[in-house]
Amino acid sequence: MIIIMKRDAKPAEIDAVENKVTELGYSARRIDGAIKTVIAAVGDKEKEPLKALQFMDGVDSVMPIRQPYKLASRSTKEADTIININGTAIGEGTVTMFAGPCSVESEEQCLSAAKLIKGTGGQIFRGGAYKPRTSPYSFQGLEEEGLKILKKVNQETGLPVITELIEPKNCDLVCKYSDIVQIGARNMQNFPLLKAVGKTKTPVFLKRGLSATLDDLLMSAEYILSEGNPNVILCERGIRTFEPAYRNTLDLNAVPMLKKRTHLPVVVDPSHGTGNREMVLALAKAAVAVGADGLMIEMHPDPDKAWSDGAQSLTFEQFEAAMTELKPFVELMGKRLS
Ligand code: PEP
Ligand code: MN
Repeated sequence: MIIIMKRDAKPAEIDAVENKVTELGYSARRIDGAIKTVIAAVGDKEKEPLKALQFMDGVDSVMPIRQPYKLASRSTKEADTIININGTAIGEGTVTMFAGPCSVESEEQCLSAAKLIKGTGGQIFRGGAYKPRTSPYSFQGLEEEGLKILKKVNQETGLPVITELIEPKNCDLVCKYSDIVQIGARNMQNFPLLKAVGKTKTPVFLKRGLSATLDDLLMSAEYILSEGNPNVILCERGIRTFEPAYRNTLDLNAVPMLKKRTHLPVVVDPSHGTGNREMVLALAKAAVAVGADGLMIEMHPDPDKAWSDGAQSLTFEQFEAAMTELKPFVELMGKRLS
């Protein structure tokens, strides 16, 4: 249930409602909107007693939240969530560019990529230091050495960095080095991992699982939110379908549907979504057209020699050309690349 407070509700009235919700055995989550405060009563208990809260001072109404994801739902919080990362606001009517190699391979590789990203107007540098690979024989990442390279990139270019966390035991370490923590598609339903990042304040970039429904994705976001971390960015990165012509099928339907169901920002990754560098720019434009709040694009100084995902990584020349083409396109869609 959500308890919607009156516009002029006093702080003491809001506190009293929160206390009552807790007393009834629910966890009370307060969401302060620009106009009104809403309190979400989260829990599995009997709903009936909550209805009496409508008679408390300062309460406007008490409504059920129909979706199983309460905190992620647009009905709990109408306004878009904007996530600030060192001056970059994600979800603020802009298109944020996350770019970089699939894997962190060397300082030189990352710095050259980051300088190009910064120079062409990109905002966030990506690079995997821990890689969840389908084969145990594939490159697994430079681990802490990779995290140190990412820190160096951040210090030299000022670009915030994002990298993937694959197990709870490394949560503090990854949060120490990275401005955003990525939870990859293969770990979207790794609940101990979701709980671990939910306990931090580091923004989380949650990628849709290979065969996850939008409700599954939102329930995974709910795990993070319910632990107290409000900074969740969702990412559509393609799903498994019967079509073998490309690595995944980029489900762009997900963008308007997610924006309708949730207040969280939605980013699209056309690199994993296609697995093919020749398709990346076309799908990036399509993602912007359907309302994506950001793009995640893999690029590499020499994609054919990349240690992972070379086939879908843009060359520097292609990335630069893509940025030049995307800028006016984004503006045509009423947004800006930032
Ligand atoms: C990645 O971003 O390199 C990655 C492994 O992504 P996904 O989890 O979407 O496969
Ligand atoms: Mn990759």
